[in-house]
Amino acid sequence: MKVSVDEDKCCGAGSCVLAAPDVFDQRDEDGVVVLLNAEPPAELHDAVREAADVCPAAAITLRTAP
Ligand code: SF4
Repeated sequence: MKVSVDEDKCCGAGSCVLAAPDVFDQRDEDGVVVLLNAEPPAELHDAVREAADVCPAAAITLRTAP
């Protein structure tokens, strides 16, 4: 799985950080998402999918790694 985030769409809601704190963080200054791990291990995939689902700005894109 490959994860990407669109910082321009992110509204700083922080839902992704709650869902998958090992993969997402937020900038201290403005709360915009910080991607900690663009290729998370399998055990985190459920949490990452949840994060993408709950993101109110649809700023998280997931791709299946080849
Ligand atoms: S849930 Fe979406 S809008 Fe909220 S901080 Fe994460 S990426 Fe940004």
